[in-house]
Amino acid sequence: MKKCPIYKSSNVTLYMGGQFGNYECKKCGYVGSLVIEDKVKLDDKSKAILKDMKQHKK
Ligand SMILES: [Zn+2]
Repeated sequence: MKKCPIYKSSNVTLYMGGQFGNYECKKCGYVGSLVIEDKVKLDDKSKAILKDMKQHKK
């Protein structure tokens, strides 16, 4: 299962049919290639990206 990296919502679908390799979160509107796989832990690079995204979110 894929989850939104921002709100941990599982309401994530392929964006534009996945043709760009991106996902869309129906809950917060996040679009990007980075989603959380349930079993996979975020590495430090992904955490840094997320932190940066949240700072720009406002
Ligand atoms: Zn979201």
